[in-house]
Amino acid sequence: MSSKSSDIKEVSVLGLGAMGAAIAQIYLDQGYKVTVWNRSADKAGALVAKGAVLARSASEAVRAARVVVMCVYDYRAAEAILAMDGVAAAMDGRLLVQLTTGSPQDARDAQAWAHTHGAAYVEGAIQAAPDQMGRPDTPLLVSGARPAYDDARPWLEALAGGIVYLGEAASAAAAMDLATLSTIYGTILGFIHGARIAEHEGFDVAEYGRIVAGIMPTFAGFLQHEGSVIQSGDFAISQSPMRISVEATQRILETAQTSGIDTEFPAFAAGIFRRADEAGLGGEELAALIKLLRVKGVQA
Ligand code: NAP
Repeated sequence: MSSKSSDIKEVSVLGLGAMGAAIAQIYLDQGYKVTVWNRSADKAGALVAKGAVLARSASEAVRAARVVVMCVYDYRAAEAILAMDGVAAAMDGRLLVQLTTGSPQDARDAQAWAHTHGAAYVEGAIQAAPDQMGRPDTPLLVSGARPAYDDARPWLEALAGGIVYLGEAASAAAAMDLATLSTIYGTILGFIHGARIAEHEGFDVAEYGRIVAGIMPTFAGFLQHEGSVIQSGDFAISQSPMRISVEATQRILETAQTSGIDTEFPAFAAGIFRRADEAGLGGEELAALIKLLRVKGVQA
């Protein structure tokens, strides 16, 4: 177990929920010797039938391979597993790849725990659904000390071709995960409101989904531009004047009101853009909205 050779294709996977099971399956498919452990052992059945070894305890799983990949519900679950009998002692000399979603502080605490117990630590934030894992373009945000990341790469690349390494701070992947999740949840709220418009107007909502999917790359390019504008600090109009969005969100709100459909999302969006206009940002690039967010807001 002392070898650091990346060509030893062994791994232990802790956690066999939807994501953990997909991860273990990918390692099996790629010819790894896979040891698995899950709180509810019955979830290991299908993997054992395909060649995985079921450890009798979490500590036995940690001892079985130098690289330990953990993916459970949240950090409270992860902490409960790490506190189990013998796990801390078994961690000495291991590389813990933590793929459980958590906060930046969770990641810092987990790294400190790992180092205290003699393990190297890498944090990963999965940006895909279980069925999308293991592909050349599967996105995975990763952070942690460079030597640990370099050591972990073969195991990470087996799971995701689209790795984005965010640097040495263990918390970086979790922080960027919060940012990308903000993007997708904002999008989901708008998408569902749009689905309600489509439904109310008698459109095929599946067709609406297809139309949105087709437009997404154009939207994505636009978001990328707005990110560059924020980073540059130059908010002179370059692509999209704020005023257009002030009027568009107001129009979405007024149409919801007159159509009698739910107004919560458009009222929220129109309210923010109205505040931007009142703050004198109407004649700047859309990205200037961040200036409102830099003013400390009321805490919920
Ligand atoms: P899941 O299907 O709900 O599985 C949860 C896993 O956590 C199970 O192995 C469960 O064990 C274990 N667990 C929960 N509480 C525990 C505790 N107190 N002690 C020990 N084990 C405990 O979740 P999942 O979809 O696999 O997600 C796993 C992680 O991947 C999460 O952090 C999630 O945010 C992240 N992720 C998931 C997706 C996705 O689409 N699924 C996408 C991106 C990231 P039992 O089987 O014994 O209950």
